[in-house]
Amino acid sequence: MARAIGIFGGTFDPVHFGHLRAALEARELLGLQDFRLLPSGTPPHRSVTMASSQHRLAMLRQAVAAYPEFSVDDRECRREGRSFMTDTLADIRSGAGDKPLILIIGQDAANGLDRWHEWQSLFELAHIAIMRRPDSQTSWSPALQAQMKGRLVARAHELLKQPAGSVLNLQVTQLAISSTDIRQRIKDGRSARFLLPDAVIDYIEQNRLYFAGQPRKG
Ligand code: ATP
Repeated sequence: MARAIGIFGGTFDPVHFGHLRAALEARELLGLQDFRLLPSGTPPHRSVTMASSQHRLAMLRQAVAAYPEFSVDDRECRREGRSFMTDTLADIRSGAGDKPLILIIGQDAANGLDRWHEWQSLFELAHIAIMRRPDSQTSWSPALQAQMKGRLVARAHELLKQPAGSVLNLQVTQLAISSTDIRQRIKDGRSARFLLPDAVIDYIEQNRLYFAGQPRKG
């Protein structure tokens, strides 16, 4: 799918191997050459224990520095305040012509899609690829179900037929790693080694992110 653009959004607070493995597999399954990791801008009520968008962006850049198959899209981090995915996709669309855009999201995010700002217009802007675990449950509200109906396609190449509007399920490995757990470990002075890239751990230590005040062992 040389023509299509994949967009893997997240908070990446911090990025970890769960994200990176899922991104790698999604890129492979979709056969994408243009695959972008897109960190969210800073939400308005962000807890002080979490990293700024500039730190999250820097960690992500460190994590994929050696992997040219991934690029980092910093447009939400460059914007002031809250960014909505619809605005971000509209921005990407304005530079992409009629190339298919594929927004890649996890099953949990997909289940809550109808709580996103102007969520119906997401389908006009992009295709949606939902990363599923073998045991993950679809739980769609009636409104979401009505939107999804008729959009589901079985194969990745079907997303090439139009710029937006279809939904594809992707089976990717979901490692039991979360940013929340990593932040808690660091705060508690426990090691997060092997849950995320060493370069990201080094960055966290150098910048004393997520840290509650106790000396920590690597
Ligand atoms: P937090 O614990 O802070 O909520 P998170 O680890 O869930 O963060 P996000 O940045 O919110 O990470 O996730 C970005 C995207 O990566 C989402 O689509 C999410 O479904 C997916 N993702 C997160 N963790 C994993 C994982 N372990 N395996 C596969 N996909 C993941």
